[in-house]
Amino acid sequence: MERVKGELLYEGKAKKMFAVEGRPQEIWVEFKDSLTAFNARKKSSFVDKGAINAQITSLLYRKLGEQGVTTHFLSEINANTMICQKLKVIPLEVVTRNRLAGSTAKKLGFEEGTPLAEPLVEFYYKDDALADPFVSDDQALMMKTVQSRDELEILKHEARRINKILLKEFARVGLELIDFKLEFGRAADGKIVLADEVTPDTCRLWDLKTGEKFDKDRFRRDLGRVQESYQEVLERLQRSQP
Ligand code: ADP
Ligand code: UDP
Repeated sequence: MERVKGELLYEGKAKKMFAVEGRPQEIWVEFKDSLTAFNARKKSSFVDKGAINAQITSLLYRKLGEQGVTTHFLSEINANTMICQKLKVIPLEVVTRNRLAGSTAKKLGFEEGTPLAEPLVEFYYKDDALADPFVSDDQALMMKTVQSRDELEILKHEARRINKILLKEFARVGLELIDFKLEFGRAADGKIVLADEVTPDTCRLWDLKTGEKFDKDRFRRDLGRVQESYQEVLERLQRSQP
């Protein structure tokens, strides 16, 4: 049955979330063209950014679904809109790193791109007012972000499993997944489900041959060709589809 857009529930930096008429378990997700960095202190936008990121997310979430990962993705409405399962989002950003780059490389004094023997999973507390600080497992529990230590282990296990799948999907199209951020939510039955998005906004992606960056660092660091890079990630993924 055709979905009808309901009231605006939330407008974030990258997406607008609406209700779906008559379907309280679902959410209508519109990806915006805006682009922000450094907790929205740097702002821009480009044409079709929302459509590019929505299509990358739906393609990757379908792949993850095929390989046994429970995701919130239900269906596409149009180029920049999808219907998802409505979740109670767990207020943790789950970051997985295959090489050190960005904040952790800086904090611990490693050179950007230092490879890791094992993927590193980290938790950040999702709170814009606090600029999403890193939290230890004990701090995540103290903040009641999840119900138990076991649930933190479930998040880490899911992040590692998703990492393996995404590493392969991106490698197939000549891109190395350096690091990425995931969000999870809780369904009405309590099950933990992958939420939000996987896009060049939330991943670092480097060309396997040249090391060229194809992600939001092009915007963060004023490297130019931001739109072209996002577009190329989508085109490479689309071309690789059977
Ligand atoms: P931000 O809130 O950081 O500006 P977005 O613009 O991407 O980010 O906003 C999307 C919001 O919707 C985020 O707060 C995210 O946690 C939340 N969200 C993502 N997936 C779901 C879902 N399936 N159900 C409910 N909320 C979700
Ligand atoms: N990330 C994200 N949202 C955030 C913070 C980080 O999507 O609020 C992603 C970021 O794009 C990168 C990974 O998570 O792919 C690790 O980010 P990092 O902690 O290095 O922070 P950064 O230096 O990017 O601010």
